[in-house]
Amino acid sequence: MKDTLLKKNAFLKIAIQKSGRLYEDSVQLLKDCGIDLKNGVNKLKTESDNFPIEVYFLRDDDIPQYVEDAVADIGIVGENIVYEKNKKVDVIEQLGFGKCRLSVAVGRNEKYNSINELNGKKIATSYPLLVNRFLMDRKVKAEIHEISGSVEIAPGIGLADAIVDLVSSGSTLFMNGLKEVETVLDSQAVLVRNRNLNGVKQQILEKLLFRIRAVRRASNNKYILLNAPNEKLKEIIGALPGMKSPTVLPLAVPGWSSVHSVLNENEFWEIIEKLKGFGAEGILVVPIEKMII
Ligand code: ATP
Ligand code: ZN
Repeated sequence: MKDTLLKKNAFLKIAIQKSGRLYEDSVQLLKDCGIDLKNGVNKLKTESDNFPIEVYFLRDDDIPQYVEDAVADIGIVGENIVYEKNKKVDVIEQLGFGKCRLSVAVGRNEKYNSINELNGKKIATSYPLLVNRFLMDRKVKAEIHEISGSVEIAPGIGLADAIVDLVSSGSTLFMNGLKEVETVLDSQAVLVRNRNLNGVKQQILEKLLFRIRAVRRASNNKYILLNAPNEKLKEIIGALPGMKSPTVLPLAVPGWSSVHSVLNENEFWEIIEKLKGFGAEGILVVPIEKMII
């Protein structure tokens, strides 16, 4: 790739958040993809020696616009921002970090039985487009007050009856005497793309996506090694999904085998319990760095 793509002086320009909740995970994802970023003094832009990429550090709110305008070719930004800004960009991959939800919250002591309680109420939010659409779909008429920050204090100071804001643990709502009553959107960081990438940029993007998928798959899976009594091998192998079939090697001790396989995080504990039930011993679980299928 160095020869062909670098020679053509072609770079893929990626926009990531310059500081804030998505910054570290975005930089880490590029690192996990084997992309070394130069540590320059330039806070706006950096590049890599070993991958044809230029990284722009921007406010998250501006990223969809920059990608639509091709100032950046791709960007990492929350779905909440992508759908609120409603720019002409394609969402191409969910990245599994920056998870949160855009939720409706009301005073903790308010009675709330259904969405209809919001009829005629004042709702403060930084997400007027998404809130409007959410209310219209449910035939609720409310007054939307757009504010740009500290939305959670709006009910306390009499500015609104309800709010729609991003929530992850819920502790900010709790501290402000609010309770979450509806989810408008589940969000996570995604990769967005300009709609008119040229062939070379598209080619670099494919390479990047290949690496991102390998990294994400690896973080969702674990490598497992265990010792199995031979008479239980059939049951133990049956309980393992594996990428193909598990690897089975004889142990030095007669009557026992070592079994290696890959487990997905979601089914992990359930399968480990089954394996133990079948007599598996010495179970080792190790992280996987990259996983190519
Ligand atoms: P910027 O200065 O870039 O505009 P910001 O203050 O708007 O930053 P952050 O608070 O850093 O943004 O949040 C960036 C993104 O992180 C959000 O748009 C959202 O996608 C995600 N996120 C995850 N959890 C939360 C949360 N609990 N509150 C707010 N955002 C969250
Ligand atoms: Zn922002």
